[in-house]
Amino acid sequence: MVHASELKICEVDTDCLFCRIVAGEIPATVVHETDTTLAFRDIDPKAPVHVLVIPKTHHPDVVTLARQDPAVSADLLSAAAAVAEAEGLLADGFRLLFNTGVYAGQEVFHVHGHVLGGEPLGPMLA
Ligand code: 5GP
Repeated sequence: MVHASELKICEVDTDCLFCRIVAGEIPATVVHETDTTLAFRDIDPKAPVHVLVIPKTHHPDVVTLARQDPAVSADLLSAAAAVAEAEGLLADGFRLLFNTGVYAGQEVFHVHGHVLGGEPLGPMLA
């Protein structure tokens, strides 16, 4: 596997936490990697399985990613599916969540899909 920093496909935003994880500057428990995506366990898990799936390139949110790079958007969905399968979530189901913007409570402005599962998650909008 070629690391993003070798390919220089991630123009590291030194202020971006997840760019720094991609660059290997901040440790993370990586569970899946492709040439364009990285998946790692959330530092503060909200479910038995809580993995963040990100593109190696910097885009602030999923809307921006979808508009700027549809191919990597598709890669991101494929990576989320691969993580869900590897974590054993396909039989019982899981949640794939993209907080987008301030009203959604997005805290890290490098697009990330939350893969959540491993127990009944309850309704989203209860
Ligand atoms: P958001 O609220 O932006 O959708 O989610 C950000 C997520 O990033 C949160 O679930 C938070 O726990 C996670 N997070 C924040 N800092 C770190 C970190 O340094 N490492 C990892 N692995 N996850 C982090």
